[in-house]
Amino acid sequence: MPWNRPLIIVLLVLLLTLTWWRLQPEGEEIRRSRLMMGTVVEIVAEGQEIEKLGTAVDGAFAEMERLDKLLSRHQQKSDVTRLSQSNDGGKVTTETAEVLALGLNVAQRSGGAFDLTLGKVKALWGLDKDTPKVPDQEALTAALVGIGPAALSLNGHQVNKQTSHLQVDLGGIAKGYAVDRAIAVLKQHGVTSAAVNAGGDMYLLGQRPQRSWRIGIQHPRQQDTVLETVQVHDRAVVTSGDYERFFDQDGIRYHHIFDPKSGFPARLCQSVTIITDSVALGDALATAVFVLGPEAGLQLLTEYPEAEGLIVAIDGTSYSSPNWARYRVTP
Ligand code: ADP
Ligand code: MG
Repeated sequence: MPWNRPLIIVLLVLLLTLTWWRLQPEGEEIRRSRLMMGTVVEIVAEGQEIEKLGTAVDGAFAEMERLDKLLSRHQQKSDVTRLSQSNDGGKVTTETAEVLALGLNVAQRSGGAFDLTLGKVKALWGLDKDTPKVPDQEALTAALVGIGPAALSLNGHQVNKQTSHLQVDLGGIAKGYAVDRAIAVLKQHGVTSAAVNAGGDMYLLGQRPQRSWRIGIQHPRQQDTVLETVQVHDRAVVTSGDYERFFDQDGIRYHHIFDPKSGFPARLCQSVTIITDSVALGDALATAVFVLGPEAGLQLLTEYPEAEGLIVAIDGTSYSSPNWARYRVTP
């Protein structure tokens, strides 16, 4: 995975500004972080002896690393790289099939706003390289031909591509899936309370409601300001924003969430936060709603009764789904 200093600094700032803290911390707790999947992943765990917690957290990181090897377009031998290089698809592992199934479902329900076939578009923008740039319009138009949710299908473990140049990109969902799996590993080790945060894709595990987690959601335009505080337990909290990965050119901000219709960064939102029961779903929905904008985004959320959302539109106005207030901590 290519790295550059500005990106690392942005990620560290993001990590610091996404504050999290416990009500009434009790017992032993460990907190570890690692640079993986293109971001800083932090795990906090408790509910076990310290040694067991260490083993559990190491296991969770190892699981995330294993998944990155399957799901990343930067890993030579990943399922995703293999699919992208193939002419018409191929067989994938159970994990990749699971991510694809969920992603394709959100792609379909969002009318293609969420799109797993944007690999070429993403590469043209070069946002994970040192020198991102606005791509040549001709190249962008060519990259959009023959892609979209209908161009990729899944039958069990078999994936079919309709266009040979179609490049798969699971960047909008894979990190969330990996966080879900990390939580599953922590649970297997007997951890009863934990938080896993992969650059804004979080799960907060905690069995007892009186010990809920409080999460400060970052204001998308004021780095040190908390927009809202929510209180959750056993829930995913996922934020997608235009302040995470971007560059400015001629006074315009170009960021990493693309509108599949144009291949350009989506223009309707500053940030979207989703609270739901799985991080993979939250990750996909945050990206989809970001592309759709407040109105169509809230409409999409009505199809997911298990999900609530907070949307900051491009003009700074906040919108939330009907039951968002359930999680909001009144100041
Ligand atoms: P982050 O990775 O910072 O948490 P997101 O979850 O919003 O942010 O995902 C952004 C990533 O998703 C991009 O880097 C790209 O890989 C992928 N992506 C961009 N636009 C779309 C889209 N419309 N549908 C699906 N994935 C997308
Ligand atoms: Mg996402």
